[in-house]
Amino acid sequence: MSSTSVVWFRRDLRISDHPALSGAVERSDRVIGVFCLDDHLLTGRMASGSRTQFMLECLADLDRSLRERGSRLVIRRGPPEREIVDLARATGAREIHLTRDATPYARARGRRVADACATADIRLVGHPGLWAVDDPTAVLTAGGTPYQVFTPFHRRWLEEPRRPVLDAPASLGAGVEVDPGRIPDLAELGLTQDASDPLGGGERAAWERLDQFRADALENYGRGGHDALGDDGTSRLSAYLRFGAISPRQIEDGLDDGAGSEEFRRQLCWRDFYLDLLRRHPENAKLEQQPDRRGIRWRDAPEDLARWQAGETGYPLVDAGMRQLLAEGFMHNRTRMLTGSFLTKHLGIDWREGERWFMRLLLDGDPAVNNGNWQWIASVGSDPQPVGRRLLSPTRQQERFDPEGTYVRRWVPELRRVPDAFLAEPWRMPDDLAMACRCVIGLDYPPPIVDHASARQEALARYAAARG
Ligand code: FAD
Repeated sequence: MSSTSVVWFRRDLRISDHPALSGAVERSDRVIGVFCLDDHLLTGRMASGSRTQFMLECLADLDRSLRERGSRLVIRRGPPEREIVDLARATGAREIHLTRDATPYARARGRRVADACATADIRLVGHPGLWAVDDPTAVLTAGGTPYQVFTPFHRRWLEEPRRPVLDAPASLGAGVEVDPGRIPDLAELGLTQDASDPLGGGERAAWERLDQFRADALENYGRGGHDALGDDGTSRLSAYLRFGAISPRQIEDGLDDGAGSEEFRRQLCWRDFYLDLLRRHPENAKLEQQPDRRGIRWRDAPEDLARWQAGETGYPLVDAGMRQLLAEGFMHNRTRMLTGSFLTKHLGIDWREGERWFMRLLLDGDPAVNNGNWQWIASVGSDPQPVGRRLLSPTRQQERFDPEGTYVRRWVPELRRVPDAFLAEPWRMPDDLAMACRCVIGLDYPPPIVDHASARQEALARYAAARG
C-alpha cells in the first residue's frame, strides 16, 4: 500500500540537507510539502514587510525545487493545528515531519499541532537541522549543566559530533491532488517593503552568496582589523540562515582549518548559542536575563528614539549603521553593536525598543539571535560584564573601524565632503570649512544628540542605581 507523509516547512526553506524532508522521503512513497502563513507572525509584534518579502522569495524558490521533483508547495493560511492536520487527513498522510525549532512561539505552536495530531491519530516526527549541532541539549558542562557564557560553550560545541550533510531528494513521488493554494504577494498580506535595496531570498541565492564569500573573503575573514567596515568582508548569509534557505551544516562543511574558517565557525556558534539560550530561558523574550538588571529606569524619550531610528543622532557612525538598516534591511555587526550600545547607554532607552525596531527591519531578524545580542550589548544578558565595557564610544569606534570614512560616507551623504580629520566629530569643524564642504551642523547635519562624556556618566549611574 502506498503511503503519504507531510513535511511542514517553517524556517527551513530548502530541499538539500533537510533531515525532515529526507526522513519523510525514506519512510513514504509520496511527500507533500506545506507552508502555513501564520497571522500571528505576519501582523504581530515581530512583523516585518521586508523580512516577509524575503521569506516569500524563499517560498517561491522552494516551490520551484519541489516542482522539479514532481510535487509543489502547498500553501495554507490559518492556525497550523487546523491547517496542517486537515491537509494530512485530506491526503491520507499518516505522518507529519518537521524541523525542531527553538523559539517560545514556534515551540508552543508545535505543541498545539502535536495535540491535534494525537487526536487525529497522526504521527508528528521532529528532526534536527536548525542548529549546526544536531542536539544542542548535549552541549553541557562536565557537571551536566548548561553553559551560561559563550567561550566554554564554544569549546564544547566544537567537540560535538556532526552528522553528514544530506543531498536533496531526487523525487517526492506522485503529485498533490488537493488545492495547493498559492504564494501571495506582499500587498495581499497587507505589508509593504521597507528596504530600498534588500537581498533576494531563496536556496539558490544562498548558494550564490556562499560560493562568492568562499571565493573572495573567507580566507581573510576576521582579519579586517581596523577597516572591517569598509570591506565587504562578511558573508551576508544571516537572512538565508534565518529562513533555513541554507543549513549551518552545509556552511560548516565547506570550511577548512585556516584562520578565516576557524573564526567563521565561531560566528556560527554564536547563532547556536543564542538559539539555545532562548530555548532554555524563554522568559528572556520579555525580561532581562540578569535579575539585578530588571530595575533599570529606562528613559521614556520618543523623540530621541525617533532620531536614533532615522539615523539622525549627529554621531556619524551610529547614523551610518541606522541608515544602512533602513536601506538594506541589514546592518554590519560592528554597527549593530555600536547602535545598540548607543541606544541603551547614551540615550538610556530600553533595549526592547531597539530589539523591536531591528525585528521590524532586519531581513535576518531572528527572535532568539536578536534578543540575545540586544541583551548582550545592553549588559543585561547572559554575560553582562561591567557596564562600561560595553559602552562604546562612537568616535573611537569610527576611528578604529572606519578610519578612511568609506562606510560613513556611503551611508551619510551629507558628510561626503567632510575631511577625514573631522569625520568622526563633524561638529568640531570651523564654520568656514563646514560651509565649504556643505555640511553646516544644525542645517545639513544634526548636532550630536548627547555629549558622550556626560551620557557615559549618566549610564553608569543608571545601571548602578538599578543594582542598588
Ligand atoms: P558573518 O560575519 O558572515 O557571520 C556568519 C554567520 O554567523 C551570520 O550569518 C550569523 O548567522 C552568525 N553570526 C555572526 N555574528 C553573530 C552574533 N553576534 N550572534 C549570533 N550569530 C552570529 N544576527 C541575526 O542573524 N539575526 C538578528 O536578528 C541579529 N540581531 C542582532 C542584534 C544586535 C544588537 C547585534 C549586536 C547583533 C545581531 N545579530 C543578528 C548578529 C550579527 O550582527 C549578524 O548575524 C551578522 O551581522 C550578519 O551578517 P553576516 O551574515 O555577514 O555575518
